[in-house]
Parts: sequence; C-alpha cells; structure tokens
Amino acid sequence: MPGFESIVDQEKPVRLLSSIIQKGKIPHALLFTGIEGVGKRKAASVFAMACNCLAATFPNQQVSDTEIDHETEGRPPSPCGSCKSCRKIISGNHPDVISIQPDRDHIRIGQIRDLCHMLAMKPYEARYRVVVISDAHALNPGAGNSLLKVLEEPPDRTILVLTAHHLHDLLPTIASRCQHIRFNPISHDVLTDFLVTKKGISLREADLLATLAKGSLTGALSLVSSGWIEQRAWILQMMDKEPFSQSPLDRVTTLLAFSEKLAQKKDRVEDALEILKIWFRDLMIYQLSPDMVVNKDLSHTLKRLSEEAAMDDLLSAYDAIQSAQEKLNGNANPRLTLDVMMMKLTEFDHEKSCRHPI
Ligand SMILES: [Zn+2]
Repeated sequence: MPGFESIVDQEKPVRLLSSIIQKGKIPHALLFTGIEGVGKRKAASVFAMACNCLAATFPNQQVSDTEIDHETEGRPPSPCGSCKSCRKIISGNHPDVISIQPDRDHIRIGQIRDLCHMLAMKPYEARYRVVVISDAHALNPGAGNSLLKVLEEPPDRTILVLTAHHLHDLLPTIASRCQHIRFNPISHDVLTDFLVTKKGISLREADLLATLAKGSLTGALSLVSSGWIEQRAWILQMMDKEPFSQSPLDRVTTLLAFSEKLAQKKDRVEDALEILKIWFRDLMIYQLSPDMVVNKDLSHTLKRLSEEAAMDDLLSAYDAIQSAQEKLNGNANPRLTLDVMMMKLTEFDHEKSCRHPI
C-alpha cells in the first residue's frame, strides 16, 4: 500500500495533505511535528509521490502564503504506486526527491550548502521537487541560517518538508515560514490492533508492547524485532521469580551469574536494564495503583512480590539500575558496573523478608 491509506492513525494530517493536493495549492514549505515513529517521513514520501504521480491530475499551482484549509474534507488522492515516478520514489532513486538527515546528531552547513547548489538548478523531471529534511531540530546554527535563505526565496516547483519533534525545537524564523501539520501519537488501541493483525502477536502481548511504545509505531515494531517479550522472560528467569526466598549467599551467587551472562550480551545490556527498571517500577507502583503497571500480563507475580517487598528496597533497586545505566552511558566497564548493580539488588531487608516472608 503506497498511498495515504498506509499511514497509520493520522487522519487529520492525511486530510490536510489531501486537501493541499486536491486544491493544487502547494506550499513551498511544510513542517511535520510529532514524536519519533508516528509516520512523518512516510507521509512526506507519500506526499512527494502524490505531487508527482503520472497517473494523477490535479491543479498546478504553488502558493507562498496560502493557509491550509483545515476544514476541507476529502478523499485522499493517493498516488498509484506503480507509475515510473512513484516507483522511483518508493525505491529512493528519484533525482528530484532529496533526503537530508542528521550526520552524527547534526545537520551541518555543508549539507545545506550542497542542497542550495542543487536547488539552483531546475528539477530534472519532477512536477514538484521535494526536499525532506528529517529531524530539522538538529540543524546547527549555520545550517539553520543557510536554510532560512532558501525559505525566504523559495525556488520554483520545489517543496521543502521539514520534520521535527516539536514546533519550539526550531528557530521561530524557520517555523514561521512553514505550514505546520501536527502528527499525534498513535492511539494505544490502534497500535495494539496493528500488532495483532499485521504481526500476528497475541492480544495480551500486543497490549503490553503498545504500552511500552508510547504512541510510536516504529517503537512498537522495534520492540517486536528485538524480541522484547522473550528478553523479559529470560531476565526474569535469571533474576528468579522468587528473589526473596533465597538466602543472602544464594542470592549473591544467582545475581553475579546473571551479571556475567548479561555482560556477554553487550548489544542487549541497554534493553535489559530498561526491562529491569520497568519491572522494579511496576513492583513499586502495584502497591499503590495496580492498573498503572506496564507488565500487566504478569500482574499475579507483581501482586505477590510487591506485597512481600519493602518499598525502600524497591526504591534502592531502581536507583541501582538507573545508576548502572548512567555509568554505562559514560563508557564504564560493563562487567564491573553490572556486578556492583547486582550486589545492590541483593541488599534486601531480610528481617522483613523473614517476617513476610520475603
Ligand atoms: Zn504514480
């Protein structure tokens, strides 16, 4: 599905883009804002296709200051997906659809200067040349000023589409020259349904992953591809679901063995610590508000363990994991950092353990 219908749960942005195309009032610059993974780049690509689809006909007019008609409803004039122009855009080989992305967290002035050289020439073959500047909040000051000059004197038959997380991430002088379209986080129910129907995941697990993804489709798909559910199962097994029933010595042995295995999975340590943090967060929260936990599918275990654990111990465990995350982000030795974290996780209040019996 190459058209607007392939953009998940963004009815209003799709309606606005459709309105622009149907009326043929193509602005020189658009700004798509929204969290990561809600379809901004996908929408930019579909918009580029729709503006240039050889199977579509629409009025041919570019406007500099016309407001988007937010009230217009319309059937999305979706691109065909099969003409020469659509195929080139889908494969990323259209000479007039240009993508600019941050280079190590920054969009540098050299990238925008190169763009200016290209824009000085006419489009090769497109009805409208489309320049997609992803994560425009990463424009460094020089690049931002250079881009501003392009926006002040926009080239003919050229549309700039900027994407950013928030409107206020951009220089006001840049944002004010773009027509703004806001992409909202994808609803929990739509994300859950997508994972069930498109990825064949059980409803219970899809519900959990949708909660973790916080409205981001890309985030949800990344959790699926990284095997988040399986990784959690492994971590909880290694942690032992009966953490408070062991003697202190046995507990130390268990957790140091876990640390050794975890340190060997260097590419998974970051995810593993996040899973652990969410687990201990859930144990704390369950005592106060069981409906707010993330690991809803394991609520029986959470209920039992949260009743047995002391809140101070859970807070200390959470802090220990967070501290390990910070140290690893600062390039600390993984094995030593994980050993220290695990030792802190053994420091549960055994008096309370015996009383409750933890
Ligand atoms: Zn087409």
